[in-house]
Amino acid sequence: MSTVQRPPTASAALLTDGTTVTIRPIDPADRAAVLALHADRMSEESRRLRFLGSSARAADLTADRLCGPLRTDGFALGAWAADVLVGEADYEVLDEAAGTAELALAVADAWQHRGVGTLLLEHLVHAAREHGLAAFEADTLAGNRAVHRVFTDLGLPVHRRYEQGEVKVRVPLAEADEGYRRAVDERGRAADVASLGALLRPASVAVVGASRRPASVGGSVLRKIRDGGFTGEVWAVNPHADQVAGRTAYPSVAALPDVPDLAVLAVPAAAVPAVAEECGQVGVRALVVLTSGLDAGQARRLSGSCRRHSMRLVGPNSLGIAATDPRVRLDAEFGGAFPLPGTAGVAVQSGGVGIALLQRLAWLGIGVSSFVSLGDKYDVSGNDLLQWWESDGHTDLALLHLESFGNPRAFARTARRVTRSMPVLTVDAGRSAAGRRGAASHTAAAATPTVTREALFRQAGITAARSVAELVETAALLHAQPLPATRGAVAVVSNAGGVGILAADACADAGLVLPDLPADLAARLLDLLPAGASAANPVDTTAAVGPDRFRACLDALEHSDAVDALMVCLVPTALSDEPESGLLRALLDGGARRRIPVTVVRLGQQVPVTRLRAADGVLPQYADPRSAAAALAHARERSRWLGRPIGADVDVPGCDPGAARRIVDAHLAEHPAGGWLDPLATATLLACYGLPLTTTVWARDPHSAVVAARALRHDGHDGRTVLKAYWPDQVHKSAAGAVRTGLRTDRDVRDTYREFTAAFGDRMAGVVVQPMAAPGVELLAGLVQDQVFGPLVVLGLGGTATDVLDDRAARLAPLTDLDLPEMVAGLRAAALLSGRPGSPPVDLPAIHRILAGLSRMADDLPQIAEADLNPVIARPDGVLCVDARIRVEPRPPFDPYLRRLRRPQGLPEEEP
Ligand code: ADP
Ligand code: MG
Repeated sequence: MSTVQRPPTASAALLTDGTTVTIRPIDPADRAAVLALHADRMSEESRRLRFLGSSARAADLTADRLCGPLRTDGFALGAWAADVLVGEADYEVLDEAAGTAELALAVADAWQHRGVGTLLLEHLVHAAREHGLAAFEADTLAGNRAVHRVFTDLGLPVHRRYEQGEVKVRVPLAEADEGYRRAVDERGRAADVASLGALLRPASVAVVGASRRPASVGGSVLRKIRDGGFTGEVWAVNPHADQVAGRTAYPSVAALPDVPDLAVLAVPAAAVPAVAEECGQVGVRALVVLTSGLDAGQARRLSGSCRRHSMRLVGPNSLGIAATDPRVRLDAEFGGAFPLPGTAGVAVQSGGVGIALLQRLAWLGIGVSSFVSLGDKYDVSGNDLLQWWESDGHTDLALLHLESFGNPRAFARTARRVTRSMPVLTVDAGRSAAGRRGAASHTAAAATPTVTREALFRQAGITAARSVAELVETAALLHAQPLPATRGAVAVVSNAGGVGILAADACADAGLVLPDLPADLAARLLDLLPAGASAANPVDTTAAVGPDRFRACLDALEHSDAVDALMVCLVPTALSDEPESGLLRALLDGGARRRIPVTVVRLGQQVPVTRLRAADGVLPQYADPRSAAAALAHARERSRWLGRPIGADVDVPGCDPGAARRIVDAHLAEHPAGGWLDPLATATLLACYGLPLTTTVWARDPHSAVVAARALRHDGHDGRTVLKAYWPDQVHKSAAGAVRTGLRTDRDVRDTYREFTAAFGDRMAGVVVQPMAAPGVELLAGLVQDQVFGPLVVLGLGGTATDVLDDRAARLAPLTDLDLPEMVAGLRAAALLSGRPGSPPVDLPAIHRILAGLSRMADDLPQIAEADLNPVIARPDGVLCVDARIRVEPRPPFDPYLRRLRRPQGLPEEEP
């Protein structure tokens, strides 16, 4: 067990009801606050339960313990709400060897049942695990129901022993199991959603900076709120006017008759920090900042006020928000028209795209549940909204146009969950992956060309359109029609052969299948259709077809097992016996709710997509068969996603995240800017996750190299060794002539060392000596951070020719058990691994363990910017890595299972 260190700075976190509190270690300066908590904010009864009796000195003793000088045998955390201490929790080591510590917890009476205790415990569990503790113990009174509930809710196993009115509680801290992770996740989600209520379901709104000029942003938002029929109170704040838009204007937020839930800020940038702070002080719970152009200092003060006072923040540089729920009807945006009420959640980063998107949705009759223009996303992000829509009770389609979704590490988890319950559509703007630029290792460089953003979106279950137009066209289908079966077999029907062929090509290009129709179905269609018709796929009904037969043809196709979707193409033809409108009517008479999805294509139509109304629903109608095909392809992809089993998080038995963190922290303490770990730190870190690196000995002079090589020779391998010159920041050793394999004698080793010294001079810091590994398939396994998607695990063909081979698979971490075999199978070289006649399969479970270890490492250590294991030599009798490089970067430590609000993007540390 390591000595207790003070974990880093304060962090903000959300309570069950969405209030933000600050969690930070208690220090000597907090003595008065601790005493005040016990004396003023806890009843006699609470104190009795906390101190197991009512010794007058207990509170003093506790304050001494919590606020003593730097402690090495324990750790105390406090929860602050607006600078008032509302809860404390601490542990004190009982038994060093056994790794047990005594736990105590107190929460102010008024703050009980709001999740303060659970939150403190989560943070304390995190700290205790960091310090290598094995279990918490606590003596509690049987009557202390609040504390028992906190323990039960925590999600960790709790053992209770009853002894004369006291309950001895023991909480083992074994590494986070699924149950605990899920419990923390669930609490985090509930808190997040609760905090967004003030934003999207406010009872009252103030518009600050509402001016009388009709063109002013504030004035126009105020009018829109009023005209939109907001169900709550709305107030104007403007020190320079008595009246705005026909209502009283108040000089300040503090002067309002009541505290608004939400404040919309349309004041100049210089005024934003002070107004935000005033809002916080009076108790406003959410801000939408329309102002743009804040400088770094203003930005910091704005987010500081939001954190301190528990306000959620949209913007700055937001176009506003809208919520159409009839119980709310809030239209607090400028620019667009109030969206139709409906079930699509819309979030955009750029206001202009937002307006365009709302307009197109309106044309299509797709109503919106809530619209948020996120602007610069200091706080509320796409992830937050996905969670809100997941639980708001009416959103069933999410549309996002964002450059990123929020915390990339939370992104994969949130997206994978939410996309199970509703389609999540986004525009993949196809930005070149800036986050991967500048990465020097194979793994990092490899991820860009081989793993498309499209593939990563697919892994998260997100439907990524290539343009706003495609997003809308896909939404039109998903919103109105059922999903096709995963096979995606489309039947194209047209009244003009040429159009049918265009449509067939479009389907093929989109990766859809156009099956031959079964013989009996084809015969039936030919029977129905006029002479000259074709019952191949595309089906050409000829222009002579009448409505009844046309409809019978569609019905027959709908009920065939060979068909999963219909694309109906109609053109007005001069030769037609039957006007196109007759066929259209026949189509609609058949209803919009068929067994399979139906898309309509009418080449002549003016807008790219519209909707056709039938009695029982709508059909999407496209101007171009390519749009219809793209939408169907996305729908099929979603159907495949839903059909895919969820999988379980991979398990890495025996890993040691605490030790791993210490290695990374030690490196960063010495090199605050980050960099590559040295060979020994790399080896130790890999061992923490069971990643099998060959024996690697570090030597700084020829003699120690010889001694090392001798020892390795005695270890029973074939007697040959490998020497690699090492210097910090080296990239490809073999290309630089810094790798010598197959050394047999002491003399070989000594000579090689000297040659290295001659070649590399002072640059060389020493050599690593390794036994020569037996040959096998050389693989690459690694880890890379993506700015949008978070950590990715990569597997590929490795060795020094890895770039030429260019055969790789990458997946979003955390991996599931299903990902492991799929990653191996995803390689073109999979056959090399799974065995052929004459060559047995390599040790696949060992490869799976490496992938799992990397996934877990990514989860535990966000500071790892890239890890590159190349080669990993795979053989039937085992798998061994002979070269590994790991680069770390300073990042705020972030336990994905520790609930904590993310820091504003692109901003330095919060001000105190
Ligand atoms: P780099 O990737 O920096 O060029 P490596 O350490 O990966 O350097 O070595 C290059 C190649 O040398 C490897 O791909 C592998 O084929 C071979 N090699 C390196 N170390 C060993 C070893 N211990 N046993 C067997 N082969 C090795
Ligand atoms: Mg290598």
